[in-house]
Amino acid sequence: MQAVFEKTKFRNLEFFVLRDDLLGEFNGNKARKLEYFLKSDLSKFDTIVSYGSSQSNAMYSLSVFAKLKKLKFKYVMSHLNSNLKDTPVGNFKFALENKMEYFVSKNRREFALNLVDSKSIFIEEGIAQKEAKIGFIKQAKSIKDYANKNKIKFDIFLPSGTGASAAYLAKHTKFRVFTTPCVGDKIYLQKQINNLNLNNLSNLTILNPPKKYHFGALKKELVQIWQEILNETSIEFDLIYDPVGFLTLFLNLSEFKENILYIHQGGILGNISQLQRYKFKGMI
Ligand SMILES: *Cc1c(COP(=O)(O)O)cnc(C)c1O
Repeated sequence: MQAVFEKTKFRNLEFFVLRDDLLGEFNGNKARKLEYFLKSDLSKFDTIVSYGSSQSNAMYSLSVFAKLKKLKFKYVMSHLNSNLKDTPVGNFKFALENKMEYFVSKNRREFALNLVDSKSIFIEEGIAQKEAKIGFIKQAKSIKDYANKNKIKFDIFLPSGTGASAAYLAKHTKFRVFTTPCVGDKIYLQKQINNLNLNNLSNLTILNPPKKYHFGALKKELVQIWQEILNETSIEFDLIYDPVGFLTLFLNLSEFKENILYIHQGGILGNISQLQRYKFKGMI
């Protein structure tokens, strides 16, 4: 996996982007999180079991991973709306094409745990678990090498769901790392990071978003900034996490002292269904 760094400019701000969306078919932070498993001998396993939402980027990435490793993939979601079931799109569609077998259950984690046998690998929602750290050690090294080569320093920014990506990166880099919650608030994000035993990272700062957004919410200002970035930089970012990320970044520019490095964490396939929701609502 070759790290690609790019310099870009948006709203008169020059910054760098780490294009983890370009790592291959298997890309973004979910590929980073699965790197440990990608390199492991999994010959005594035949199945991956996980759980989460019906349009999650993690679900799709796990389906690609299962296909690569010739494993079955079982996934439990608590809800599947009838439109998506009848006409699969985006991550759900592509996960099905990769032979995902899915289950719907209100107690999705418990249901998933019950599917596990001695030949199964159990993966937590969002792949937020200790094995994830391996990929971020490598990411941190790529960032360090690039910074040294170009004689620059970075302040790193990336938006969070579980916070695993931001916290594991912060743990393994000497640069400052900034993030913002896209699921729940600051307290919830800090709690999730603490659950990974990554509390007390002095170089990790959680910034407040401009306002509280419900995860995946359709908002004019979110799709607007996403479109604006696409037009101005020709980089397609994710439509769920990155708009909240960029609004937060621009609201907090005074916090940043070094060159800003924004991490593109993939998730582009998820844009198909999110754009469809915006169109259906007449918002674009
Ligand atoms: C999963 C995902 C995130 C959130 O990552 P965490 O490690 O859970 O914080 C952010 N951006 C994109 C595009 C993602 O797919």
